[in-house]
Amino acid sequence: MAERPDMIRIGKYELYWLNGGAFELDGGAMFGVVPKVLWEKKYPPSRGNNINLVAHPILVRTPESNLIIETGLGNKLTEKQRKIFNQKDEWRILDDLRMVGLSADDIDYVILTHCDFDHSGGLVSRKGDDLTLTFPRARYLIQKKEWEDVKKPNKRSAHTFWPVNFEGIEESGNLSLVDGEMEVLPGVALSYTGGHNRGHQIVRIESEGECALHLGDLLPTHVHFNPLWVMAYDNYPLEVIDLKERLEEEGISREAWFTFYHDPFVRACRFNEKGEVIEEVKVSPS
Ligand SMILES: [Zn+2]
Repeated sequence: MAERPDMIRIGKYELYWLNGGAFELDGGAMFGVVPKVLWEKKYPPSRGNNINLVAHPILVRTPESNLIIETGLGNKLTEKQRKIFNQKDEWRILDDLRMVGLSADDIDYVILTHCDFDHSGGLVSRKGDDLTLTFPRARYLIQKKEWEDVKKPNKRSAHTFWPVNFEGIEESGNLSLVDGEMEVLPGVALSYTGGHNRGHQIVRIESEGECALHLGDLLPTHVHFNPLWVMAYDNYPLEVIDLKERLEEEGISREAWFTFYHDPFVRACRFNEKGEVIEEVKVSPS
């Protein structure tokens, strides 16, 4: 990553991308029923049909508060897991926070769009032999339905809700379960969506007439903007298609920035009605 994390401004607010690690997933799984001949033109696979992805949380700095959306891969993957996901970059979000003059104690809110391992991995971190809360002062904002599924995963979600990522969270008293909508701060709001996971949520950020939409894994990369390009990882694909149509229309009409957590090429984009990129912020070379 460049010296200072990539950043965009939304009115008075600053959004920074922090290095939460890089990894690979199967390209076919990332593009579901989309034929490879179509997706490989936009997103060339690396070895073994995998594609490169990042898990880069977004720090939102407002004049009063600091908020983090997602937490990256964390530092608890076993050697076997690191191999399976071909983890490349280490999780360095605390170093990146220091670059902008903040420490873990300065984070007031942690928002997880959902609890899959690649989003929740940095909630709890390993320090020597101990597990500790990475952001001890923060409130953790997760949808109630998502937390119910973490506590009682189905056969599929059991593979991605890793208990080690949630150790000590309930006992900390920092967990706030969101039931539908919530205004976190003036101009930062959560909305329940479902779709990718049963308890998935999105984030709207608005300041001084400008707007960013963070659609989490409904829109993992800018290449997924076509509503029909949904992932095989989506648990409710028809819902994802409906949600994307509605939310993308909203974002286009408001000239919003769409922000990406998994995109190794582009941090944020604006699109026109045809779904074409009209403005973009690229990932800085590391
Ligand atoms: Zn993800």
